[in-house]
Amino acid sequence: MILIQGGRVASAGTWNGEFRDILIEGDRIADVTAPGNVTREAETIDASRMLIIPGLVNAHTHAHGNLAKGVADRWPLEVFLNWGPWSLGRTVEHYRVAALIGAAEMVRKGCTAAYDLFAEYPTPSVVGIEAVARSYQEIGVRAAIAPMMADRSLYEAMPGFIDVLPTDVKREIAEIRYAPAQTTVEACRVIAQSWAIPTDQVKFALGPTIPHHCSDDFLRALRDLACEFGLDIHMHVAESKPDVLAGIDRYGKTAVAHLQDLGILGPRFIAAHCVWLDDNDMARFADHGVMVAHNPGANMKLGSGLADVRAMIQRGITVGVGADGSRSSDNQNMFEAMRLAAFTSRVVGRMESEWLSAEDAFAATTLGGAKLLGWEGEIGEIRKGAKADLVLLRTADFNYMPLNNPIAQLVFCEDGTSVHTVMIGGRFVLRDGKFTRLDVNALSKRAEIVTEDMRRINAEARKRAETFEPHVASYAQALAGRDYHVNRFSGRP
Ligand SMILES: [Zn+2]
Repeated sequence: MILIQGGRVASAGTWNGEFRDILIEGDRIADVTAPGNVTREAETIDASRMLIIPGLVNAHTHAHGNLAKGVADRWPLEVFLNWGPWSLGRTVEHYRVAALIGAAEMVRKGCTAAYDLFAEYPTPSVVGIEAVARSYQEIGVRAAIAPMMADRSLYEAMPGFIDVLPTDVKREIAEIRYAPAQTTVEACRVIAQSWAIPTDQVKFALGPTIPHHCSDDFLRALRDLACEFGLDIHMHVAESKPDVLAGIDRYGKTAVAHLQDLGILGPRFIAAHCVWLDDNDMARFADHGVMVAHNPGANMKLGSGLADVRAMIQRGITVGVGADGSRSSDNQNMFEAMRLAAFTSRVVGRMESEWLSAEDAFAATTLGGAKLLGWEGEIGEIRKGAKADLVLLRTADFNYMPLNNPIAQLVFCEDGTSVHTVMIGGRFVLRDGKFTRLDVNALSKRAEIVTEDMRRINAEARKRAETFEPHVASYAQALAGRDYHVNRFSGRP
């Protein structure tokens, strides 16, 4: 038993800095009491200069992105996707190192659970997914891992794109073929059947990447597989204006309307980004209980626009907050993502009543994320019976000097530098700023080796991406300039 004594506790909707003792038994919180009330024998941790919060939840990330920090600069989403194959790992060591870096960075910055859409080409495998899952397990971070999948390449997915290409480029693109739907669905079935990791630590989910990148047969088969094994479906939806218009060009209606027709929307469907949803799309999501992973950092970095999160919350849609992959928004700092969620809402909404308050942003990043991961009541809050996933922040730090309002300062001041100790499931993962079981220097060396290795392996793919880039960019620009009844851009018209 462990007693965390005399700390200030902040948990959305319950505590905002009250002094409490937290008793931990096994992997759960056994009690939260007024200071000095626990008489049972326990290892005692002095938290008198600490603010204690539930571990933050990262609602959307990509393990493979952790090896691609800083490679993207002025890339809109479609150009970013064009470069995807260049920055992907190809071996188990690549997958392992990428996932270890992300999980460890999250812990160092106060996050204890994540929804990870990891990409493995041409199709997910038991070995690949297990490498990522075991890395999360090794660090201790809870995760849902949904391999990103498609049966159309980016180029095949964009209606009319290939038709206007010069012949030589067309020929090169024709050589890029994704695995057939059936192969990928079978691979997912094998992974689901052979899953051996406790699902309260790491679980398997399905990540068909973007609606129009997946054939209807593929989506129907994944819907059925999700139903058969009780798996979530996590998908990127209405991320950019070209993305939403390409969907309309393909389906004659929004991708969300099409997903509804396919019968894939439901309470375990998670839609990421959702920048360009219109009112009808939001109503569809609310009707079906779909949840949204809001990624304000990536939405700004890729110039996708600003999602109207307040409108979603008003309709009763559950919203979690994500850092997104480190290739798009280039870190795994959930304090930053939480602050950006609060800040971007103030650019979207004219009335201050529409803005996300500090409490709103904190609730989305803890309670919202917990629900989105399917662990509502288990993580994301500090209360008796919940998992002991806790972050201790030093209050003798600039972010809390002086301490006026804990939740407001968590959202508006904290940048991860005050993180002192992180416990997941009752086990210390980080103590006094140091990992208990991870050698960070050794991981850094492994990262250098695999990155060099990937540069060599992906040299051909990189050359191809260079050839395709101007065509993809001009296609996306043309779509971005088209009229649409929703506008999520800010700044000059
Ligand atoms: Zn994503």
